[in-house]
Amino acid sequence: MKTTSSDTPRYARKTGKLRGTLIGCGFFAENHLNAWTSMRDTPLEGVELVAVCDRDLAKAEAAARRFGIPRAYADAETMLTEQKPDFVDIATTLPSHRPLVELAARHGVPAICQKPFAESLEDAQAMVRACADAGVQLMVHENFRWQHPLLAVKQVLDEGWAGKPFYGRVQFRHGFDIITNQPYLAEDERYIIMDVGLHLLDVARFLFGEAGRLYCRTARIDPRVRGEDTATMLVDFHSGVTCVVELSTATRTEPEPFPECLVRIEGTDGTVELEQGYRLVLSRPGHREVRPVDAELLPWASLPWHVVQDSVLAIQRHWVDCLREGREPDTSGADNLATLELTFGAYRSAERGQAEVFG
Ligand code: NAD
Repeated sequence: MKTTSSDTPRYARKTGKLRGTLIGCGFFAENHLNAWTSMRDTPLEGVELVAVCDRDLAKAEAAARRFGIPRAYADAETMLTEQKPDFVDIATTLPSHRPLVELAARHGVPAICQKPFAESLEDAQAMVRACADAGVQLMVHENFRWQHPLLAVKQVLDEGWAGKPFYGRVQFRHGFDIITNQPYLAEDERYIIMDVGLHLLDVARFLFGEAGRLYCRTARIDPRVRGEDTATMLVDFHSGVTCVVELSTATRTEPEPFPECLVRIEGTDGTVELEQGYRLVLSRPGHREVRPVDAELLPWASLPWHVVQDSVLAIQRHWVDCLREGREPDTSGADNLATLELTFGAYRSAERGQAEVFG
């Protein structure tokens, strides 16, 4: 399951102002569109969305109007054929990911794909293969690890503040109504692990490396949703960390923690905690230090979403850097295979009541 950089292919560098396109002008794409627009006039980044697409043409036209994008399409293939863009940002829901990524590969267009990347590991592998064969970069929009507070946690770990980590907890428990914005989530048989669990598993990989074993329990608390809305996982990492990964959209508490991802890491030298309120707490006997690690409130951002919105800008900047330098993104399609393996493994573990072991 380990992905290495030694076999990372080299891609063509992109120079000049990048001509981007976006498919899927729904709820979350608003953040992508705001972030791309904010990068448009930055000389170093130089990105311009030349067209947007939604199978509901009225949505594409409305997005084009609001964000000053020259063209709107209802059909993705027509858009890629006519525009020959430098990249395409796929912000649609899961069922369309594989056909659209394969379409991009056929057109030789580097692609970003929203999470969940794929419905199965086989689909994910096929998309990675298609882009590799076409020689184009593929990045999964796995933005949690790009959240400012989580980058701060990673930085203190890398600086060795905690010593050698042996325990982790990565937690996303809240009661915020996400179904109103994303009604399709209520219909999914696989809900919270597929929607948010993969973000947390990716964060855990970001912090602790690759996992060897995972045990998961799930439950459905809210009768309005079909799938599981709480999940608790115990994950063993090859680095020696045992990590609890916790998810819930059924938590009733005050103050409401949404959308904060909370973390606790214990190491041989000290403890690192990301507490509610975006407070990074570093402690060891005789020492306690609190650092505010909230993200900047971007001009187009709004509470309580601002940390997520800032992470969208951060991952899109990373993508542009990778296109310009011809390198593989940190959250490439190939990298995401390991996150998905854990995600699907969590469902198998919950169904069978047994731990899943990974290579
Ligand atoms: P949405 O239903 O609001 O929007 C999706 C849009 O894509 C719709 O307008 C639909 O018409 C369009 N579409 C679907 N298939 C298409 C196709 N083949 N061609 C053209 N247009 C097509 O969905 P959303 O809530 O915006 O979610 C989109 C994706 O973003 C999902 O995969 C979701 O999991 C993800 N998401 C990610 C985060 C995050 O933090 N990374 C947060 C929320 C949602």
